[in-house]
Amino acid sequence: MTATGSLVELDASTWVIQVQAALRADGQRLTAPRLAIIGWIADAARPFSAEALTAALASAGVGRATAYRAVDWLRERGWLARVQTERGDYTYTRTLPGHHHHAVCTRCGATLLVEGCNAIDALTALLARQGFRVHGHILELFGLCARCQAALGAST
Ligand SMILES: [Zn+2]
Ligand SMILES: [Zn+2]
Repeated sequence: MTATGSLVELDASTWVIQVQAALRADGQRLTAPRLAIIGWIADAARPFSAEALTAALASAGVGRATAYRAVDWLRERGWLARVQTERGDYTYTRTLPGHHHHAVCTRCGATLLVEGCNAIDALTALLARQGFRVHGHILELFGLCARCQAALGAST
């Protein structure tokens, strides 16, 4: 947790290297289906559903059970975060292990990783004054990324 909060760059190729290292460290082999799944997720430009991942990789010979197990593994180890869309659907987005928040562009799906919970600290303090002890939180942000704002501005 930092005092001001910060945005973390999440580079897709760095994510792939880190995930592969984590798989090896966990004693998992880098099988062709697993590499296909990791590669597809790295290329995903926006949060995706497990269903979409399964459908996209079916032609590459990746079975449904393998895809779901991989998603579970990645999620449990903190390499995928489950984010809810504005409509309430659950999707997954690349992330890094540890406590983060995600700001998702509702137009293009670009996801920013937000580190730091100082926005929550004020609420936690407010609740503490009411005798409520906070021990966890989930916070997601929706909006328009800079590129989409520029694109929309240019078209109007
Ligand atoms: Zn955008
Ligand atoms: Zn937080």
